[in-house]
Amino acid sequence: MVYDAIIIGSGFGGAIPALRLAQAGKSVLVLEQGRKFTEKDFKQSWDFKYSSKFLSITTSDDYQTFYRAGMVLGGGSVVFSGLMNRSPSETFDFVDYNGYTVWPDAVNRQVLDPYYDMVESMMQVRQVTWNEVSKTGGMFAKLLDNAGLTCDRARYPYVNCRQCGYCEAGCIYGAKQSLMHNYIPQAQAAGVEFRTGCRAMLIQPNTSGYTVSYIGPNSGYNNSMSTEQGTIVILAGGAIYSPELLLRSKQYLPNLSNQVGQNFCNNGGTRFGIELPDGLPSIECYKGMDSAGVMTYAFWKDYRITIEAGTSPASIFSLNIHRPGASGWGLDFKHWAHSIYPSKLIIGNIMGLVTGEGYVYINSNGIPTVHFPLTQNLVNYINRVMAPIQQLAKVNNAIILETMPSGFMYSISHMLGTCRMGDDPTRSVADSNGQIRNYTGLFVTDSSAIPGSTGVNPSTTIAANAERIAAYIVNNW
Ligand SMILES: Cc1cc2nc3c(=O)[nH]c(=O)nc-3n(C[C@H](O)[C@H](O)[C@H](O)COP(=O)(O)OP(=O)(O)OC[C@H]3O[C@@H](n4cnc5c(N)ncnc54)[C@H](O)[C@@H]3O)c2cc1C
Ligand code: SF4
Repeated sequence: MVYDAIIIGSGFGGAIPALRLAQAGKSVLVLEQGRKFTEKDFKQSWDFKYSSKFLSITTSDDYQTFYRAGMVLGGGSVVFSGLMNRSPSETFDFVDYNGYTVWPDAVNRQVLDPYYDMVESMMQVRQVTWNEVSKTGGMFAKLLDNAGLTCDRARYPYVNCRQCGYCEAGCIYGAKQSLMHNYIPQAQAAGVEFRTGCRAMLIQPNTSGYTVSYIGPNSGYNNSMSTEQGTIVILAGGAIYSPELLLRSKQYLPNLSNQVGQNFCNNGGTRFGIELPDGLPSIECYKGMDSAGVMTYAFWKDYRITIEAGTSPASIFSLNIHRPGASGWGLDFKHWAHSIYPSKLIIGNIMGLVTGEGYVYINSNGIPTVHFPLTQNLVNYINRVMAPIQQLAKVNNAIILETMPSGFMYSISHMLGTCRMGDDPTRSVADSNGQIRNYTGLFVTDSSAIPGSTGVNPSTTIAANAERIAAYIVNNW
């Protein structure tokens, strides 16, 4: 059988076109390398043995950073912290360090707004009430207020959330409206075939479209590959695995852009820790949703950054958080950690507009790897965006803690840009409709297509862009 469309990956970039194409009467096969997890399979546990069943971990070649992504039916939506905010308008005007306007002219906030509406309605995204904001979030808002700055309640796809804080381990209560609650069951009802445990390995053009070779659950020890054919193929494996697949297929797709895998961007992610002064009520920083329910846009105008506060399990100390000048190890460290946890510790995350300077490649062992050095540009960015946080701490008599080198996030989960859309064919892999240059019918709809930072957590923009490209495909079939 020749499917109308084969989609590789079932996260935001994959599940959304799957539903829309099936609703338009197309036959659709989705290949997903992860398994299916339901509420009864999840545990409230941070044990790595457990999370490695549905998370993929990739490292940098200097081992300074590692990258987490969902590897499960529903992709990142199953394991994410649930923050779903729209990118501010200025995001789409970003000009990188090389003077290049990274977003194509055809994509901006106004264009995406109807698609953001569709995603938010499908996933029941709403702004939480102050009653749902954790004590940590409330305290972060208070610190900002003391400095004359604003703080907003954030937006989540949560229904009857119990504030247990295990969103990234999978929600056992079914409160988090991941893609498993909306797009995927609706796509199944519309006839989409989801094949889990199937890892796409190669894409080859043929006379009527493309052949996808994959390793499936029945491949056996010799990893023999199965094949399926599709009139069109949509890449939605995420910003590390979509370029990996294209790079593996390069011998069959010789006219691919040399930008495949390039322009890797971490969304400007910078982690910081705040030790609150004595005399404040305990914030019980492990309680609440995974993120603390608040976002501030107070620094957007001057710095093009947004900041979220997080709730923190005790394992957060494995991130080497310590006081400036003090050791992150030993008895003194233990006593100090005990004195601030869980009453006085706020961990926050900055997201901002940065140039994608890293790249993804396949190493000599055949493993996808990220090259993402701490460049001078990145150091300058981190120093610049940490300045207002230092000021915030000063106003509140709080202490900014040291995290990994200069606040560099050593665990990254907002990977973007490696098969980016763009107007300049020499600097982008796909056109503004997500169609890969020189290959009609080969599309990219996931985080790799997003040309640069989103300024906020990226999933809503990835999802809205996937809705937009799906509409283009259906309207131009
Ligand atoms: C722990 C964590 C917390 C996060 N929190 C937030 C948050 O609060 N808000 C937010 O906006 N974002 C958050 N993110 C980021 C967000 O989840 C991702 O940006 C988003 O899921 C990316 O969507 P995608 O469609 O590009 O890829 P994914 O959602 O990663 O989906 C890709 C899918 O493709 C599959 N796949 C890959 N390669 C192949 C192959 N060769 N064959 C078959 N299948 C393949 C993968 O198994 C995966 O299921 C978080 C991410 C993580 C890991
Ligand atoms: S905090 Fe809410 S959404 Fe997250 S796992 Fe707990 S109940 Fe589910």
